Amino acid sequence: MVLKRPLIFLGPPGAGKGTQASRLAKLYNVPHLSTGDMLRDHVARGTELGQKAKPLMDRGELVPDDIVLGMVEERIARPDCANGFVFDGFPRTMPQAQKLGEILKKRNFPAPLVVNFEADHATLIYRLAGRRTCSVGGEVYNVHDHPPKVEGRCDNDGGELIQRSDDRAEVIRDRLAAFEAQTQPLINYYRSTGDLAELDGTAGVEEVNKRLLDILARHGADGNRA
Ligand SMILES: [Zn+2]
Repeated sequence: MVLKRPLIFLGPPGAGKGTQASRLAKLYNVPHLSTGDMLRDHVARGTELGQKAKPLMDRGELVPDDIVLGMVEERIARPDCANGFVFDGFPRTMPQAQKLGEILKKRNFPAPLVVNFEADHATLIYRLAGRRTCSVGGEVYNVHDHPPKVEGRCDNDGGELIQRSDDRAEVIRDRLAAFEAQTQPLINYYRSTGDLAELDGTAGVEEVNKRLLDILARHGADGNRA
């Protein structure tokens, strides 16, 4: 399977973009990228960017765009991205989108296909409130549709599963409102460039996957089904 356009998955937390990004990355044999993973990797390796980012992350502060974009530029330049990638939840702001566009152009990538995963608040709150995260390895489970084999314990390492403070129902509403305010200009921008496709993320994982593959075929992103 050949991916002909880099993919960018946007959407609120709980809309299912991470699950689909991971599946498509396997299907097309391209990396599944997220800035959270990149930051953790740079911190773990003690790179210059990681050393700049670590104190900010430790204090729970936002890592500024120049650090994030520096990581993104370096990551996309690696050989494993030569056949494309799936970006999960990035960019988040207009300046990030514009700079990412420049980076892609500079490296001769085709225009990305941006898929906006949509879901109503009731669905998102139900899904997010069911999330449990492994306190050891960070694996994510869901009491509704992806429970661990043993309640409260990670399948991989037996770590205790916890509910992250920002997955509690009372703070989810605020997260969703903030997310929508931040990303609406981005959605409008990608709609104006003609690179946006909308996807209903409320269906089951298999159905969403099928619709997603149809979107890729229709938008010239799938080299086998164009
Ligand atoms: Zn674990």
